[in-house]
Amino acid sequence: EPHGAIYGRVLVKVSGEALMGNEAFGLHWPTIENIAQDLVEARATGAEIAVVVGGGNILRGASVAGQGLDRATADHMGMLATVMNALALEKAVEKAGVPARTLSAIPMPTICEPYARQTASRHLGRGRIVLLAGGTGNPYFTTDTGAVLRAAELECDAVMKATNVDGVYTADPKRDPSARRYERLTHDEALAKDLKVMDAAAFALAREAKLPIVVFSIREPGAIAAAIRGEGRATTVAP
Ligand code: UDP
Repeated sequence: EPHGAIYGRVLVKVSGEALMGNEAFGLHWPTIENIAQDLVEARATGAEIAVVVGGGNILRGASVAGQGLDRATADHMGMLATVMNALALEKAVEKAGVPARTLSAIPMPTICEPYARQTASRHLGRGRIVLLAGGTGNPYFTTDTGAVLRAAELECDAVMKATNVDGVYTADPKRDPSARRYERLTHDEALAKDLKVMDAAAFALAREAKLPIVVFSIREPGAIAAAIRGEGRATTVAP
């Protein structure tokens, strides 16, 4: 019985770092299984679930560029890292009992389907969890921008940004003990107060598309489903 979603279709952004657990690099399988379980619970709310996966646990273009490796090539490598993560999550979601498909912004049809808006929408409509790999498919962008872009074109009701912090704060809660968490913010307020919800390109697109962004911590089990029900600790940035 689907239950409780306040959104019909969501785009969940999972950073690469969320997949490495307490390791310093790469994939930590028990952590990936936990996130897959969370995604399955998120699907059980009744919402359609698209996921954009990052690659920072393997490679970030900006960090490896230099010394003869140009930025565009480094970013290509970063996008390939997101494909590896998506494939791992796809398998974990299927093991947890829900059909999943990986669609890559960089076509590699022997490994997964190429991304096309109609294909993604059709899989979502059939109840599959759709892993969107390769970010935007272009260098100089991030998977946060990819997440907002896909959310806009797939007409998602919100971007669920799963992070290490349970929302957006007045100041860095790790450094400033008096920092307070916002419950709700508008895009304009976040901009005016210079609150870093996402990188500037991603945030500008969210503002333009009037897309709500829900920021919450992925550390609690069931956090994604809770956010989709409008429960749990989070900050909602909405027009
Ligand atoms: N990347 C890119 N274009 C995109 C998305 C990602 O070039 O549209 C590359 C970029 O090098 C980035 C890497 O892929 O550093 C991994 O993505 P990201 O840093 O966004 O991952 P996350 O921080 O979410 O783990």
